[in-house]
Amino acid sequence: MAEINGVWPSTDNAWHSLRSIDLSRPVREFLWRLMHNVPKIGKYWLKVPNKEYRSECQPCEVLETMDHILYECSALGQELVWTAAKDLWARTGRQWPEISLGAITGCGLFAIRDKRGKVIPSPTRLLKIIVSEAAFLIWKIWCERVIQHGNDIDKAPSESEINNRFQAAIQKRLKINTMLTSRRKFKQRAVPIKTLRKTWEQVLFQPHQGAPE
Ligand SMILES: [Zn+2]
Repeated sequence: MAEINGVWPSTDNAWHSLRSIDLSRPVREFLWRLMHNVPKIGKYWLKVPNKEYRSECQPCEVLETMDHILYECSALGQELVWTAAKDLWARTGRQWPEISLGAITGCGLFAIRDKRGKVIPSPTRLLKIIVSEAAFLIWKIWCERVIQHGNDIDKAPSESEINNRFQAAIQKRLKINTMLTSRRKFKQRAVPIKTLRKTWEQVLFQPHQGAPE
């Protein structure tokens, strides 16, 4: 995060970032587990008699680590999701951060700044959403492949299925963001429509049509 933001986050900031309201609840839980190194992967299984084989990523035959799962694995999934995430972000015309375990775990700390160093809230919010939802989807796909389907390649999701799931994850966030603007429901806590528009309009923009109402 120091490399991406240009400043070192404090420990307090790092923990607080896990509660960022820009992250969905399941994502926050996933990042919390990641920061605490909870997922039982790789080295954990080397100590479990007769389960040592679980320490390796089967398609790649290397020791499984979170880095491997989230952005190195050659099994279908991570690369496709990151490409979709990057393509979506490219519509903002802004630079995509280099993905690392630090960037994923600390995505709640992202801060996109203007020339004077002031944080620009809308793209910052969108980047948090895109990176966190992409990483969480990759983790879910891994869990399904390894835990649910025991590495059965016949049960692996197709390319289009993975792309659709990423789309759906982002659509869901957009829908929730939209609902949060309801004055009737949330009164003074409602998110201003201007905030919603600024966050999403660049990625929703259609040529000749603008952003949908
Ligand atoms: Zn792998």
